[in-house]
Amino acid sequence: MKARQFLFITSFLVFIILPHNSYAQLHRNCGTMSHLRYQELKQPFLKKRIEAQNIAIAKWNKSRSKASEDTIIHIPVVFHIIWTNAIQNISAAQIFTQLLVLNQDFRHNNADSINTPSQFQALMADVGVEFCLAHQDPNGNWTDGITRTHSTKSVFDMNADDAKFSAQGGYDAWDATKYLNIWIVPAITNNGSSDILGYTQMPGGNWSTDGIVIGYKYIGTMGTAHSPFNKGRTATHETGHWLGLYHIWGDDNGACWGSDYVDDTPNQAAYNYDCPTDPHVSCSNNGDMFMNYMDYTDDSCMNMFSLGQKARMRAVLNTTRLAIKTSGRCMANAIIPASKEFNFQVYPNPSNQSINISNYPIHLRFKVRIINMEGKQVYQNTYPADRQSINISIKGLKSGLYLIQLSDNQNFGSSKLIIQH
Ligand SMILES: [Zn+2]
Repeated sequence: MKARQFLFITSFLVFIILPHNSYAQLHRNCGTMSHLRYQELKQPFLKKRIEAQNIAIAKWNKSRSKASEDTIIHIPVVFHIIWTNAIQNISAAQIFTQLLVLNQDFRHNNADSINTPSQFQALMADVGVEFCLAHQDPNGNWTDGITRTHSTKSVFDMNADDAKFSAQGGYDAWDATKYLNIWIVPAITNNGSSDILGYTQMPGGNWSTDGIVIGYKYIGTMGTAHSPFNKGRTATHETGHWLGLYHIWGDDNGACWGSDYVDDTPNQAAYNYDCPTDPHVSCSNNGDMFMNYMDYTDDSCMNMFSLGQKARMRAVLNTTRLAIKTSGRCMANAIIPASKEFNFQVYPNPSNQSINISNYPIHLRFKVRIINMEGKQVYQNTYPADRQSINISIKGLKSGLYLIQLSDNQNFGSSKLIIQH
């Protein structure tokens, strides 16, 4: 019996056995492939563009050097929060936890990588990609990398892509050659089915709709994040799609002929739900790589990208998505925020001689940075744990807008500073 048929029958049995006041266990449902098929129908040239892209990827992978594989690539991200009720207008702290997970997963710094089964450990990859919150909007103005839009629309249609247009109750994309756009919406529907966690436009589509859409219950690791999808892995999975990855089972409805265009992932019949016991054999393989971010398992079950997936993603970043590498929207010192955010006081602000910083909730040794609008760090110092306030001379800094960051190992805060001479 093919895995998908088995899953369908077991899901059906669970449904009829459970009493009516119980909830069936939530399963991952990603809309990316359905969205791609719909776009291919509507855009006759898309299939050809994707074929050309696959040729470019193969060409890049033939010629790539080790040095090109080791360079860290920084990707600026803007989160567009679309909300109808206040709870959906999630906190910046929750966004930071999502960014942290992306940075851990794409640098293979995720603590749960110890759970990767031994037969796949040699294939675990540090993709070498880091993400920052964009610090400049498309007009060159200061931004914290988060937009917030109140909308009367509580369900967004995947095929209409309405989340991506202000005129349709969503918010217009920022130039997708310079930013990874992630829309966070109340809910996503696809032909009446409203249990979709997220969907992504694969590389090769129109820039005006490029990016990722995710439900507010599946972002980050706190606040509204909803078990079993409360470890930030929906965004990791969707960002894999955004960088050209297909589902690990090849989207062939349970057969064994479908491909994910990656050589080192085992041939796999269908998606896996929940968290199977290893080895979970299908298509005569030695076990599915169900802990791969591109399967359908629960957040706490996923923990790796493979070396082949890394090569494909980096090839996309050196071909179709080449422009984002040099967009300059990431800070010189890419921010990898910690799990908490906080406020502090800067005064006087605007200032022209010196500034005082106080009322910060830090009790450890901490770092202060000042960053200019070009993303360059113009001041950095480390202070002892018992320092209650700080005075910094800013006489040498030109008039303009700056960002002050305070951070220790667990906390992160930032504030604007205006210098006027
Ligand atoms: Zn997917």
